[in-house]
Amino acid sequence: MESPIIDYFLSLIKINSESRNEEAIALQLEKDLKMLGGKVQIDRANEKTGGNIGNVYAYFPGNIIKDPILFCAHMDTVPPGNNIKPKISADRITSDGTTILGSDDKSGIAQIIWAIRVIKENKIEHAPIEVLFTISEEIGLLGAKYLDYSLLKSKLGYALDSHTTCEIVVAAPSQIDMKYTIHGKEAHAGVNPAKGLNVIKIAADAISKMPSGSIDKETTCNIGIIKGGKATNIVPNLIIIEAEARSHNQNTLHELVDSMSNILRDTVKKYKVGDFQAKVDIEIEESYEAFHFKHDSPVVQLAIQTNNNLGIPAKISIGGGGSDANIFNKKGLSVAVIGTGMRKVHTLDEYILISDLELGAKWVEEVIKIYSKN
Ligand SMILES: [Zn+2]
Repeated sequence: MESPIIDYFLSLIKINSESRNEEAIALQLEKDLKMLGGKVQIDRANEKTGGNIGNVYAYFPGNIIKDPILFCAHMDTVPPGNNIKPKISADRITSDGTTILGSDDKSGIAQIIWAIRVIKENKIEHAPIEVLFTISEEIGLLGAKYLDYSLLKSKLGYALDSHTTCEIVVAAPSQIDMKYTIHGKEAHAGVNPAKGLNVIKIAADAISKMPSGSIDKETTCNIGIIKGGKATNIVPNLIIIEAEARSHNQNTLHELVDSMSNILRDTVKKYKVGDFQAKVDIEIEESYEAFHFKHDSPVVQLAIQTNNNLGIPAKISIGGGGSDANIFNKKGLSVAVIGTGMRKVHTLDEYILISDLELGAKWVEEVIKIYSKN
């Protein structure tokens, strides 16, 4: 027999919602949240992100006087995320293999909505609850970055957006994105190559000296994109290199990024033809900032107690990537990330177990109950 949270989850993943195209799912969630008694607002973050709708925010007043508790998840998916045809075999939900599944992060959305539904249907007294479903998380946490923060009253909350069900992610790294544009000199490759300055060779020289991969236990960096050249008979004069660096240590991160820039500048400086000097433009953007909760912080303690009540071992983990929580924490909230059961996300093999989907909803229900009582 199918449990209704599955049906609800399946209905959500069938709605196309790749980043910047969240309108259909946002309007559906607006309806669902209103049905449960939420006061819903949609902000105008999309005016800054280029999407077709803003973040969906809902407030459930509750009947216990207390600060609200926040639950968030993101509405957008990575591509290929349109026309998802879910398949169920035994306990496992997958796509048909031609798309992602979208459990990242619709499992989180379904679990939040389902928990509130159970609380409401059973008339369980609760503290005020805030729900936030963001846009365009997958393309740089844009919904969270441009959220109308005057909406939020919570000081503490959970982003349901990690893998192992009910794991508590207490830390995430900072990330910096780098874009390097190297300018050389164009020339005919057959007639007078010596008059040119080949930027692909310059880039190769620089990249071979730059750090990459795993730098230390808490730091990584990756040169991920390289674009340049027009034809084999032209000495190329422009190349763009894009890279990222992540670390749980802010100083290490900045030192790493500085060292990459310095290697690039020093290498490029060596290349000259006549009075033409090769040059590099460096653009550096802080994508998000790290957070780290101590074990005894209220947001972690509440999550551990929730796991204990449900009889699930509290798996505390350190995240390797950013999520909306990085942005909320920088804004002064305390938001830990909780696993929903989503697996192999961002691949065609993405799946979630029905039992995990249900357990995550129980987790949200339980954390609301404990928070409301304490
Ligand atoms: Zn996600």
